[in-house]
Formats: sequence, structure tokens, C-alpha cells
Amino acid sequence: MYVQVVEMKALYPGSFDPITFGHLELIKRGCDLFGEVIVAVLKNPHKNADFDLKTRLNQISEATKGINGVTVISFEGLTVNCAKKEKADLILRGLRAMSDFEYELQISHTNRSLNSSYETVFLATEAHHSFLSSSMVKEVARFGGKTEHMVPEGVAKDLKRLFN
Ligand code: ADP
Repeated sequence: MYVQVVEMKALYPGSFDPITFGHLELIKRGCDLFGEVIVAVLKNPHKNADFDLKTRLNQISEATKGINGVTVISFEGLTVNCAKKEKADLILRGLRAMSDFEYELQISHTNRSLNSSYETVFLATEAHHSFLSSSMVKEVARFGGKTEHMVPEGVAKDLKRLFN
């Protein structure tokens, strides 16, 4: 638990295809730090998601229903435009390992170049969640492995349904 200095609204954008315990950790810590987190699910026509938008929104709403300060929305287009529309104060992203760093740095510079009002705040994920990614979780499920320790209960069920 942190001492919250100023109440702020953080926009946490991503594909969340599907949400994992790593994402959930970031949402909880974001709420503790800033008071409010808007989870913004990207509707990207150029990226083929395994779970459709409605399912991803339901999965996140279900997984975050006990956390105070969370709103779940979908968006299309630029993250900075979504941040402006939602009256967010900052953009929240997670860093798992060095491999995330280059990509995340590039996105944050791009966003600053588009609208310098938005700082990106990075939280380093807890070590025990640092191996988790949506694509790895799907790979495990595709080969019949257990995912209950990686994703919320409802998502584990959805994964079974998707790959069985
Ligand atoms: P994108 O397609 O935009 O990379 P993701 O849904 O994969 O979206 O991830 C959204 C954000 O959550 C990114 O900042 C990513 O680094 C972070 N993230 C993903 N997995 C984890 C994890 N296991 N722990 C903490 N943060 C994570």
C-alpha cells in the first residue's frame, strides 16, 4: 500500500487478449498509486485478436469487479486521443524485462511527440508475474496446459473453450 499524494486518473491501454494476473497486478497497483485506472482495450482492425472485443471487456470487468477505482472501456485509434477524451492525467504501462523496454520507450516517445501533455508511467512487474504474457498463456492453453495460476478463473475457462 502506498501513501497517495495526488488523486490522478491513469489510462492503462493494451490488447488484453486475454487479461493475465500480470495485467491485474498493474491495475491494482495503479489504483493504489493514483486512485483511478481506466483500462482501455484497443480495438485494432489490423491485429487479429483471439478473443473478440466484447469477450475481452467482459473478462476484464469480471476480473476487476472487487477493485475500487477501475473503469473498463474500449477505444480505436491513438492512445493520446483516448487519454484526452477520458480526461486522463497519465498513461500507465508495465515493464516485465529488458525485452519490453525498447518497444515501450518507442511508444512513449511517439505519444509524447503527438501530445506532450501525457507522461507515460512505467511500473516494473513483480518478479513472479514477469514471465506472463497473453501470447504465452494462449500457447500453454493451445497445448492443453493449465492456466489457472496465470489468468483469472473466467479467462481460464474461456481459454479451455477456445482451444478444446
Ligand atoms: P499491447 O498489445 O499494447 O502490448 P498488452 O495487452 O500485451 O498490450 O499489454 C498491455 C500492457 O501491460 C503493456 O504495457 C505490457 O508491458 C503490460 N504487461 C503485459 N503483461 C504484463 C505482466 N505480466 N506484468 C506486468 N505488465 C504486463
